Amino acid sequence: MQDIKSFTLEELKSEIEKLGEKPFRAKQLYQWMHQKLARSFDEMTNLPFSLREKCTREYEYTSIKEVKMQESAIDGTRKYLFELKDGSLVESVWMKYKHGNSVCISSQVGCRMGCAFCASAIGGLERSLTPSEMLDQIYAVTLLTGERVSNVVVMGTGEPLDNYDALLRFIRLLTDENGLHISQRNLTVSTCGLVPQMLKLADEQLQITLALSLHASSDEKRKELMPVANKYSIAELMEACRYYFEKTKRRITFEYSLVGGVNDRPEDAERLAELTKDLNCHVNLIPVNPIKERDFVQSKGAEIASFKNKLEKNGINVTIRREMGRDIDGACGQLRRRQKALQ
Ligand code: SF4
Repeated sequence: MQDIKSFTLEELKSEIEKLGEKPFRAKQLYQWMHQKLARSFDEMTNLPFSLREKCTREYEYTSIKEVKMQESAIDGTRKYLFELKDGSLVESVWMKYKHGNSVCISSQVGCRMGCAFCASAIGGLERSLTPSEMLDQIYAVTLLTGERVSNVVVMGTGEPLDNYDALLRFIRLLTDENGLHISQRNLTVSTCGLVPQMLKLADEQLQITLALSLHASSDEKRKELMPVANKYSIAELMEACRYYFEKTKRRITFEYSLVGGVNDRPEDAERLAELTKDLNCHVNLIPVNPIKERDFVQSKGAEIASFKNKLEKNGINVTIRREMGRDIDGACGQLRRRQKALQ
């Protein structure tokens, strides 16, 4: 059965026509799915019963179920563990900021990129998510919190550009005026650096923010942390970032997780400054969460401050990512791993 929630409005119109229904029903149906966030065809009360029945027969209607929720007593951040229709588990995080609510979603079940600091990499990739399963995380969080989501970050489990076509469709549906209509500028997609897909994404000329997980300033160090570095060098990545900026005029964000004694030394900061100083970018330093399965420790406060200082002295725009939900869990992917261990 085809997944109805992953159709664009245009595609839905031709489906509705095939079912012998009036064209205006397509928009009604689309708005029920993507604006009123209906959880089933049964909720679509202004559609004729016969149409709802046909849809139930013809299409799959994805939905996700909350399995667990942890809420931070410090800042109200909520981490949700959701179960998909096939029993797969994904994590999403809801964060409350002064400027609006943000949801961080997963794009795959597990991940095959194998980054050494990441709990999601430990079990490998199980499968990629469909556009509707990515949307469902945002829809479910909206319904569960009763609050509007204004920012979306695709930075949870999975490499979004390893699920390129589904990601692109997801972006179109999420930003569509007949759906939640989230601005492209309020959407961030994070990649570990798949160069061909970055170039392809640049050509789409979207207004989304691209965040590159750099995490090291030399190829040698990056290879230790991220197997993808064996495939693409930092020089190639920087070229792709330049191209992305040229095409979209959107400033690139570099994510740099600081791991104590591994990539937080003064020479690491100097190299990073050298790499980024002539790029229109922003560097986000992330003190890494300790992971039980790995021996990584957080950088000390003084090291973090001097790392930041070095970059700033070179005129680089830099922030230290505020830790959200510090008390609820460690790195992303851990809630899912723990639940799987219990099953
Ligand atoms: S950090 Fe991201 S790309 Fe790397 S293994 Fe984890 S989920 Fe995959």
